[in-house]
Amino acid sequence: MKETAWKWLSDNESKLIETSDKIWNLAELGLVEYKSSEILAKSLEENGFKVRRGVAEMPTAFVASWGSGKPIIGVQGEYDALPGLSQKVTTHREPIVQGAPGHGCGHNIHGVSALGAAIAAKIAMEKNGSKGTIRFYGTPAEETYSGKMFMVRDGLYDDVDAVLSHHPGSSNVAGIGSSLAINSVKFHFHGVSSHAAYTPFLGKSALDAVELMNVGINFMREHIVQEARIHYVVEDGGMQPNVVPPYARSWHYVRAPEREQVDHIYEWVLKIADGADLMARTTHKVEFIEGVYNVLPNKGLSDVVTANMREIGTPEYSKQDLKFAEEISTTVPREDKIEELRLSKRPGWQGLIDEVIDTEIMDPWDEGIVWPGSTDVGDVSWVTPTMEFTTSTYVLGIGAHSWQVVACSGAGIGHKSLLFAAKAMVGSVIDLITEPEVLKKVQDEFVTRKAGRVYKSPVPKDIKPPLKIAREQAGYKESQ
Ligand SMILES: [Zn+2]
Repeated sequence: MKETAWKWLSDNESKLIETSDKIWNLAELGLVEYKSSEILAKSLEENGFKVRRGVAEMPTAFVASWGSGKPIIGVQGEYDALPGLSQKVTTHREPIVQGAPGHGCGHNIHGVSALGAAIAAKIAMEKNGSKGTIRFYGTPAEETYSGKMFMVRDGLYDDVDAVLSHHPGSSNVAGIGSSLAINSVKFHFHGVSSHAAYTPFLGKSALDAVELMNVGINFMREHIVQEARIHYVVEDGGMQPNVVPPYARSWHYVRAPEREQVDHIYEWVLKIADGADLMARTTHKVEFIEGVYNVLPNKGLSDVVTANMREIGTPEYSKQDLKFAEEISTTVPREDKIEELRLSKRPGWQGLIDEVIDTEIMDPWDEGIVWPGSTDVGDVSWVTPTMEFTTSTYVLGIGAHSWQVVACSGAGIGHKSLLFAAKAMVGSVIDLITEPEVLKKVQDEFVTRKAGRVYKSPVPKDIKPPLKIAREQAGYKESQ
């Protein structure tokens, strides 16, 4: 079966690359990935999948299914870009459109590696007469508004037996580290405007409330778990200095390794906001933007993916790929590359200082490590066994969310990582479909790791995906 699936992927390589490049060129931001999501949904539809578009109240979220009955194996694809990272496929900084978005996290590849795996799985299962269901989750806005969080809350993952996804990276590894749980929230403070010099006593400054709240938060830092991270920006601090600001708004992220730690710190932050009101004589409203879980890893799924990666073997790079990789890696100073490698904690990282592409297939080395970022894959991982693995899409020493990642995600090195990932993913899907004991082991581990803890969506029921905000940020006009 795997041979059938892998052959289909090899035969359709150029079509998949073309699809990835199309999404790369579109570079649509979270929740407005109208064209990118449609490219993937349509392609699945054309290949016999039944597609439900606009799920979980997001026009760019969809679920596509093929097959029937159990097991149900999910693959998931992201396709949102990042602001300001527009970049040509060149080895120096050169935007296509200055200030426009770009695929600085390689999500053009993320979606298409899963697309290829889903279709190839169907082709192989059809030929073999295998029972089971392949489900593709089209998951928008990973970078901003955590589309999966709404999809999990709406129960779309409730009956799925395991979920796989692939993320572009600089190593080939099915990691078993975790991530930080997060709450993202905005505080809208309301005061009273007044002439700031003549009649300041008539005014109540909403900006004062924002500043006092942040003073409170900054003092709080000393008394929370060390791994917690809180960051904020002031989105609106008033209009001009001679008007006491009647309105001000701040946006905060609260992160910590465990969901319950975030809940605890968040409760405290809410009290600090109340305290700011008392001091500044203001009122405020809380706007909850998102809340996601930390990732619950799964070693069983990691083993399956790693074995498949090794059976396939890492890609062969052309001279042109290597030249591109060599050149782009010179854009990072050696000392920065060393720090980036050190941060990865990859065993033997010192031996990679003079390497450009990581061509090894590593055993996961990150058991017990909490990576300092957050992802909505976390929520999925608490309702079903989940694995997101990486392949070497970009060169060693460059970090994600950079112009170099945009360039690599549209270049040969990225294309090869896409094909490799799709093959590893479909091989793993086939193992889970055809070997019930493997799936059982994975599910048993999932139960053990949850240790009786029950997933409860951090997002209040009345919170809807912020479609309007997303459209505004992407430059769509209100009337459109
Ligand atoms: Zn990403």
